[in-house]
Amino acid sequence: MADTDQRPEEIRLRGIGVSPGIATAVLQLTGEGFEEPETRPIPRATVAVEKERLLTALTRTREQITELRKAIDQTVGADHAGIFDAHLLVLDDASVIEEVVRTIDTQLINAESAYYRVIDRYLESLRRIADPYLRERAIDIEDVARRVLKNLRWPGGPQGLRGLDLSQPSILAAHDLVPSDTVVLDRERVLGFATEAGSPTSHTAIMARSLNIPAVVAIHDLLEQVHPGAPVLIDGYHGLLILYPTEATVEEYQTLKKRERQLLKKLNKLRDAETATSDGRRITLSANIEFVEELPVVKSQGAEGVGLYRTEFFYLNEQELRSEDKQAENYTLAATALAPHGVIIRTLDVGGDKLWPERYEEPEPNPFLGWRGIRVSLARPEIFKAQLRAILRASAHGEVGVMFPFLSCIEELRGAIRLLDECKVELDRAGIPFDPDLEVGAMIEIPSAALIADAFAAEVDFFSIGSNDLIQYTTAVDRVNERVANLYQPTHPAVVRLVRDIIDAAHRHQIWAGICGEIAGDILMTPLLVGAQVDELSVGAAQILRVRRAVSQLDGNLCRDFLDEALKLSDAASIHALCRGIAEEKYPELL
Ligand code: PEP
Ligand code: MG
Repeated sequence: MADTDQRPEEIRLRGIGVSPGIATAVLQLTGEGFEEPETRPIPRATVAVEKERLLTALTRTREQITELRKAIDQTVGADHAGIFDAHLLVLDDASVIEEVVRTIDTQLINAESAYYRVIDRYLESLRRIADPYLRERAIDIEDVARRVLKNLRWPGGPQGLRGLDLSQPSILAAHDLVPSDTVVLDRERVLGFATEAGSPTSHTAIMARSLNIPAVVAIHDLLEQVHPGAPVLIDGYHGLLILYPTEATVEEYQTLKKRERQLLKKLNKLRDAETATSDGRRITLSANIEFVEELPVVKSQGAEGVGLYRTEFFYLNEQELRSEDKQAENYTLAATALAPHGVIIRTLDVGGDKLWPERYEEPEPNPFLGWRGIRVSLARPEIFKAQLRAILRASAHGEVGVMFPFLSCIEELRGAIRLLDECKVELDRAGIPFDPDLEVGAMIEIPSAALIADAFAAEVDFFSIGSNDLIQYTTAVDRVNERVANLYQPTHPAVVRLVRDIIDAAHRHQIWAGICGEIAGDILMTPLLVGAQVDELSVGAAQILRVRRAVSQLDGNLCRDFLDEALKLSDAASIHALCRGIAEEKYPELL
């Protein structure tokens, strides 16, 4: 420990910035674990009492979640309240309740212990699956279970984040924050949060972004390094939590914050502007979403529709949501909310790092090269057709497009279109309306498809380049493996060349080509993409205005020359340096 008259040294903890922004405040530790309660053996005569305690706790929890849902609906908005519907489904899961009752009956133990054991077993099997989306689902289950245990322990006791002193503005540090904690955070008092667990695609991260709370997740051993009451600075842009920031650091960040405020003010003026280069070349700038809850943010940022709706998140979340009707409802909601713009719905892309329920038991040796995307959909036509019919049904209510992921050969595209046509005939016969001219697109994200892009272009209405996978498969670099992350290079000349060639093939066939992978939102890449004549860029909500501004500073013809020049180079670093040079010259304020 430092002497009392000596300032502790500044410590910088690095994680993943999932919600941008900068804040300084004192640190508060929070979060309650899902801890094992004491096991109490019970005499057979009191089994009925324990069952009654369980049912009372479940009822109380249901009331609390419903109340919370109502309160959030009124204060924060219906979009955020939806998470509690998922919680109610978890709470009322009949098979879990039956198993807990059976455990009380057969093992003769108290209700909290029986409940904990059943849920923990369930969570354990979910955690063993290396699938970030299922891990997030585990967080929801833990969230609900924590409430039930609390109600068993203290019927009628207090709810909310335990032991939190919010008398002064704070930055929270926790092992993890569950979505229902995040959504009720008092934004006046909680200026940011940092966690040990979490990922950019977690519900919590998504909510932090829409609530505009700077957040950093995945800080290794965070709780071992922090003390309550310590002054901290959170930098959600760069994924940093700075303990005991020096005066110089605070000053540096104040300047940054001021610059950021000025920049955002300037960028906000572009909300309703067209996206065009300085010489008038229009580009459609749309957004990527995983949940319809993101639509208000996307719209507030001035997106021209959604260019990629990744439906597997919604689909993997809840079994109940998989019916054709539920899907149609969800897609219709997106289509109507986005009018006059449209939504491009990508059919299920399970597999790879997004495990498909059928594969839990039999993991594949190389999941990214295995049963993924369109391969799964074509092998399960009844599931695929339910989704296609749902998409078609939504197309009667707004501008809807559909695109197929992970196409490696033309037969897969033809198979998908054949099933789509079958769905159209079925809906027609049933007198259910849909848009017969709904646009059909191919995601080009595998080199074999990129190399025969002309053949694909002849059979679809548009291309959407999935650069995340295109980079992975072109360079043989696993996109989720940290060890080879340095080789994951968007400016690799092979990638740049493929992107250009895919767009050229689309244009030869008079169809449009967009990009929906992360490079679309990377303003260092913008000159190359504009040079390649891209027609649409689909990006994360936070990138929309930045990309719009970057595009407006570029001249289309100069970008073409720039791309030619870049393609004479043989290494990613040189192309990257060229891009950086252009960005520094044309839009230094965005860097
Ligand atoms: C991509 O591969 O670039 C893409 C947009 O799809 P996903 O990231 O969901 O694989
Ligand atoms: Mg992909």
